[in-house]
Amino acid sequence: MFKKADSAMDFPRMEQEILEAWREEEIFEKSVAQRESGPRFVFYEGPPTANGLPHPGHVLTRAMKDVVLRYKTMNGYHVPRKAGWDTHGLPVELEVEKQLGISGKPEIEKYGVEEFVQKCKESVFKYEGEWRRMSERLGFWIDMDDPYVTFHDSYIESVWWAIKTIWDKGLLYHGHKVVPYCPRCGTALSSHEVAQGYQDVEETSIFVRFRVRGQENVSLLAWTTTPWTLPSNVALAVLADDDYAYVQFNGETLIMAKDLVEPRLEGDYRILRVVHGSELVGMEYEPLYTYAEPEAPAYVVVEGDFVTLSEGTGIVHIAPAFGEDDMRVAQEHDLPVVQLVDAQGRFDERAHGLRGMFVKDADPLIIKDLEARGLLFEEMDYSHSYPFCWRCDTPLLYYARSSWFIRMSDMRDELLANNAKINWYPRHIQDGRFGNFLENVIDWAVSRERYWGTPLPIWVCEECGHEHAVGSVKELKSMAKSLPEHFELHRPYIDQAILACPQCGGDCRRVTEVMDCWFDSGSMPFAQWHYPFENADMFSEAFPADFITEAVDQTRGWFYTLLAISTLLFGRSPFENCVVLGLVLDEAGLKMSKSRGNVVDVWKLFNEHGADAVRWYLYTVNAPWNPTRFYEDGIVEAKRKFMGTLWNVYAFYVLYANIDEFDPSQYNVSYEDRPLIDRWLISRLSGLVGEVTDAMDAYDITQATRRIEEYVDDLSNWYVRRCRRRYWASEMTADKQAAYLTLHESLTAIARLIAPFTPFLAEEIFANLEPALGSVHLQDYPKADA
Ligand SMILES: [Zn+2]
Ligand SMILES: [Zn+2]
Repeated sequence: MFKKADSAMDFPRMEQEILEAWREEEIFEKSVAQRESGPRFVFYEGPPTANGLPHPGHVLTRAMKDVVLRYKTMNGYHVPRKAGWDTHGLPVELEVEKQLGISGKPEIEKYGVEEFVQKCKESVFKYEGEWRRMSERLGFWIDMDDPYVTFHDSYIESVWWAIKTIWDKGLLYHGHKVVPYCPRCGTALSSHEVAQGYQDVEETSIFVRFRVRGQENVSLLAWTTTPWTLPSNVALAVLADDDYAYVQFNGETLIMAKDLVEPRLEGDYRILRVVHGSELVGMEYEPLYTYAEPEAPAYVVVEGDFVTLSEGTGIVHIAPAFGEDDMRVAQEHDLPVVQLVDAQGRFDERAHGLRGMFVKDADPLIIKDLEARGLLFEEMDYSHSYPFCWRCDTPLLYYARSSWFIRMSDMRDELLANNAKINWYPRHIQDGRFGNFLENVIDWAVSRERYWGTPLPIWVCEECGHEHAVGSVKELKSMAKSLPEHFELHRPYIDQAILACPQCGGDCRRVTEVMDCWFDSGSMPFAQWHYPFENADMFSEAFPADFITEAVDQTRGWFYTLLAISTLLFGRSPFENCVVLGLVLDEAGLKMSKSRGNVVDVWKLFNEHGADAVRWYLYTVNAPWNPTRFYEDGIVEAKRKFMGTLWNVYAFYVLYANIDEFDPSQYNVSYEDRPLIDRWLISRLSGLVGEVTDAMDAYDITQATRRIEEYVDDLSNWYVRRCRRRYWASEMTADKQAAYLTLHESLTAIARLIAPFTPFLAEEIFANLEPALGSVHLQDYPKADA
């Protein structure tokens, strides 16, 4: 006799019971262990940050990981699943600053770096329990008891080995460059971090008169979107080969690109004469501000190849401290660098009236001041996309800082060649979003002027300036003149390690920077094993990964740093198949955010509808790389349409089989002897297995689930509806036996087929219909007929 199939369909309660059984019988562990001799399928877990709560986007990511890993396991692959945690960097420091009620580096220094770093360490697993609970409830099978953790000394040591290897290749260098800089966090960011934080903003741009020296009432007209950089102006740039006009306009003479006169000037104007840009080069003008006393000749027109005629006036204001092109021009023409802004993005004491102000807040004051002095020509609203700090949402400044860089620009061709070998899902990521990013790759600013991170293992000699990269703890200890009492590969302890200079024997001290935390996570293919210091076999067995999947923002995050680091170290991509997931949005198609109050409560969904319903919805609603609207009604509908239909067929079978005390093991009706409709269903099922297998082998989860859904619909609305009377026959005729057997076989095959997708429902049905075989997750996946 079968267990009665509850018509109430209380899936959440059923799932809770199954979770308990899985735990008790260690089904996950067994499912992995029993395949140990099978071919290896390698999966890398992109490490989340456990100091933040999981959100609906993480439910999608974990559901997609799980379905592939379960599918491969049932197909005979050995699929170990090591969890990982991203524990360093700004995300953690920022949370601790908030928690302590402090903000910015001066306040951290005041609080004490050692205490601060301890707080960071304590906070990194704040929500680990919540992540565990969410993952388990969703049915995501992953080994969370033995995760890799990026702040462990063993992990850091592997990262040090990587840095030293890159150093030995001459690809790591120290440079003074204009870099995107977060004034609140007090550190430079890398281009891939910047790419994650663009927002559309409306700002005031201005046209400014630069009075030509020695010429009455003649001004060079320049345009800027960043008025706060004007006090640091040292030059104006023009295109040497283009025409510039002297224009008579409202009683004054303006100089600007000839082609831009007409679109810019409204009203009567008269072109007095036209000159080549090269004729303007060398022309001197009066500084707008005299805050700084430049060390070299300044306030002069120079040539600049980056000037465009698509916007502005064809004359570009140059502030070398705040722009890459500006810095290059300054170096070419020996212009001074005027830097009136401090590390927190505020004007320093030289800028009288602006002193202490955050630069962006000073814009209106500067505009007012220029207007009062007759130097403002025009104000204009300007909408553009501007980068913000991906962690703290502060507008970034382009800022001359010294920073450590990895010469990724030298690796461009190799990156592109390795990218070409990756199977991207969807395909267009390869040449589109990801390929474009690689085409334009610039050097990776890897150092952060912060506290909680992998310390950059470069020691510099105080005597002779020699720089040495340390690649292991052993090397560090062998070179040490003195070591900190508490030995740990973190600031501030590691900063106390003084090494003997291999050149002159002098004292070497560590540079103060830590590494970009994206370097940590990109190092996981080897650092998770503490390679090369141990586990060389584990590393080689699990490199490269067959499969990774994360959200689309990782094309500039983890996908990039994984590829970058493995290209540098091993000359190849560390992953072969990558499924790129779209954003998870609310019902109206808006991004979910705390401030909007539209974040869906996944626990409510789990508790009221169950994890299978959430999973099935995510798999079927659209291709996973498209944006997914995530809302309760959608999940209810998915549950009704698929799970409800399947459950009704299953309940029908159980009800009549129990009435007839039908035991499938006691009967055998060969296929040839079954009626046509039974043979049709069986052949339909075998076709389905082929379709699902083909789709899943191509990571096409949507196709696979939609085909299953169609089959279940046929099973219910075609087969059972037409065959109902066969089960009502009073005698156990051959026809009735065939009907029971066909339905039984179909339901158990479906249970196996859906096991990767809706693991709970599959388990419930299979356990009841095949009680002798044990968990469905220890079975083989149905094989398509050859
Ligand atoms: Zn920031
Ligand atoms: Zn030395």
